[in-house]
Amino acid sequence: MATATPSSPTESRAQPRLLTGDRPTGPLHLGHLVGSLENRVALQHDHECFIIVADLHTLTTRPRRDQIEALPGFVRSIVLDQLAVGIDPQRATFYLQSGVPAVYDLAILLQMLVPKTRLEQIGSLRSMARAAALPDDAMTMGLLGYPVLQAADILMARASVVPVGADNEEHIAIARECASVFNELYGELFPLPQARTTRSSALPGVELGPVGSGAKMSKSLGNAVYLDDDAATVASKIRTLGFDDVDRRNEHDAAIVSFARAFLGDDEAAGLGRGLRSGSTSVAAAHDAIIAAVETRLAPIRARRRELEAQTGLVDEILVDGTIRAREVANGTLARVRETMGLEPLWSGLVAATEARAKARRKPY
Ligand code: ATP
Ligand code: MG
Repeated sequence: MATATPSSPTESRAQPRLLTGDRPTGPLHLGHLVGSLENRVALQHDHECFIIVADLHTLTTRPRRDQIEALPGFVRSIVLDQLAVGIDPQRATFYLQSGVPAVYDLAILLQMLVPKTRLEQIGSLRSMARAAALPDDAMTMGLLGYPVLQAADILMARASVVPVGADNEEHIAIARECASVFNELYGELFPLPQARTTRSSALPGVELGPVGSGAKMSKSLGNAVYLDDDAATVASKIRTLGFDDVDRRNEHDAAIVSFARAFLGDDEAAGLGRGLRSGSTSVAAAHDAIIAAVETRLAPIRARRRELEAQTGLVDEILVDGTIRAREVANGTLARVRETMGLEPLWSGLVAATEARAKARRKPY
């Protein structure tokens, strides 16, 4: 067990259970910080948190060997980023999705409850396929079934609260439908999970990468400011944000003003936007203000990251401890599912009959 940062959750089990997490497709960035991580840090105080590192979900669009070989680095950096931001491994259970095989079993059972046409209607899956350059007719069973696997993650933890971005709301609806159909068909077992959606609009990317300005900051678009970027890199990325004629006509939507809203607050951002439009504030001055505010947020995260990195092996240990705990929870849920559906009685009936036959023949089985 880790000593510096013990990782077995000690919080009261009476708190509502929460499940959230990320696909390990790259290190986390400022969009994650303001869109989900700060919320996780706040929620950990009154929720029992399960934080998934969803490597199976990564395989839905990145199944190649070289893509799998990139996973260990991304998995570790995603956990390290969250610890550095302030998620406490004593309160939260970090776990590796593929390390919990009971979830695959549960996903198969839940697949029986979701019509294929229901999944085909989900727009986010088509967007993921497009982002991965997969034509519609190359959609795999795995990608189509993504929300069902996600339902298995949520239901295996019997989580009732699922903080997600708006793009994931439909997936949580599928998890709720799975829970509700299961409860109706076989008996009350699952709480109906509720999405806790972040309403704030997505942080745009910086003006790097192939997509130009305006796109959401995204690991896969090359337009992200990463939480582990050093101060000089952060500053140089933020200085790519411009303010052109389109921005002048609608300064509220300018990427530079969105950054100001996220890091300086609504009022200061509105003033800065007006100043940029009228010319009383220079773009360089706006950059300076935003960089200073971002640094105030990132400096303690960087310092904490360095402390954690100095404790060699700590991240791996936290993830292993958490995955073992997630396995126990998942095995417990799967046992109840099999019992409730009648699959366990089917198996134990066969075993009992076989043992009885062996006994009658006076031969041990
Ligand atoms: P990928 O490029 O692999 O899709 P990403 O950088 O877009 O990665 P996701 O893993 O898709 O990040 O995002 C997970 C969650 O993080 C989102 O549902 C949302 O809650 C939050 N998030 C991601 N990017 C942003 C952003 N730019 N602004 C605000 N929140 C974000
Ligand atoms: Mg994304």
